[in-house]
Amino acid sequence: MTFDMDTERKRLERKLVILRTKEFLPAPLLDIISDTATLQLAARQAVSVPLPSLPTPPSAHLQGVPLLPREHFVFDAKQTALLFGKLLALSEASGGPIGTSAQAVRKALEDGIFSLSEACDAFIRDDTLFFADWAARLPEAPSTVRFLVQGSLTPSLEAVSEQLKTHHNDEEPWAFGHCPYCGSLPLISSLRGKEGFRHLTCSFCRTDYRAKRLQCAFCGEEDHDKLEYFKAEGERGFEVHVCRTCNCYLKTSDFRELDTVSIPALDDLESLALDILAREQGLSRPTLSAWGF
Ligand SMILES: [Zn+2]
Ligand SMILES: [Zn+2]
Repeated sequence: MTFDMDTERKRLERKLVILRTKEFLPAPLLDIISDTATLQLAARQAVSVPLPSLPTPPSAHLQGVPLLPREHFVFDAKQTALLFGKLLALSEASGGPIGTSAQAVRKALEDGIFSLSEACDAFIRDDTLFFADWAARLPEAPSTVRFLVQGSLTPSLEAVSEQLKTHHNDEEPWAFGHCPYCGSLPLISSLRGKEGFRHLTCSFCRTDYRAKRLQCAFCGEEDHDKLEYFKAEGERGFEVHVCRTCNCYLKTSDFRELDTVSIPALDDLESLALDILAREQGLSRPTLSAWGF
C-alpha cells in the first residue's frame, strides 16, 4: 500500500475528532499532538530519503535478522530541521511545563549546548543516556527533547521503512520479537480482516508487519497457559495482551466491528487508560508511547 496524502489527511481528521471525546486526555496535550500529527503528515510527503544498501542477506532475514538495523537508518536533514523548528515553536506556545522546557531547549540550541544532528544520531542509535541527560535537565517536562527529536525524525524513518517493504514477505507471520525492518520493539498491535490476522506496529520505523496471533510479541512465548488478555469497560475496540513469562503487555486494537479509524500512534494515545490498568497490575511495557513519553 503506497502513501496517499488525501486519504491519510481525512483519516487523521476523523481520528482527532474521536480523541477529543476522551475526557482523560488534557486539552493542551491533545492540541500539541494534533498539531504534531498534522505537521508530520505534511512532512511525510516532503521528505526525500534514499534507501541505504541493505546489510542483511535474504537468507539471514529469513532467520530473523532485520533488513536494516535501526542504526543504519538515514533521514532527510533539511525536512527534519524544519519540522523540529515547527514542533519547538508550537511547544513553546503551548505554555505550562512543556512551554517552559521548550524555551530551555531553544536557549540550549542558541548557546550551542544542544545539537539537533547529535540528538537525531542519538535517537537513531537508541542512546538512552543522551535522552536521560536531557530529561534530568528539564525536570518539569522531562520528555520534551525526546518528543521533539522523535517527532521530527518519524516522517523520514517511515519513508525509509516504506521502501523496505518489498524486501520482506508479509504474507507469513514474523515470529522473532522485533521489527523485521529495523529490529526495534513493537508499539501496539491490531487485528485485521475477516481472519483477524494480527499486525504489529514498530515503535521506531512505524511500519506494520504480520505476526503470530498467539505469541508474546516480545519474548516469543507460545504456551497458551502463559498468554492472557483483558479488556476494560468504556474502552471499546481495545484489549491488553499479557505474557506471564516476561510479564510484559501489548495493547491490541480490534476495530473490525466498529465504525472508527485506526492510526496506530494515535490508537496508543486513545487507549492510555489501559496502560494505567496494566501498570496497576505490575505489568511492564517495553516501549515508550508513540509520542516519546
Ligand atoms: Zn521497525
Ligand atoms: Zn513474553
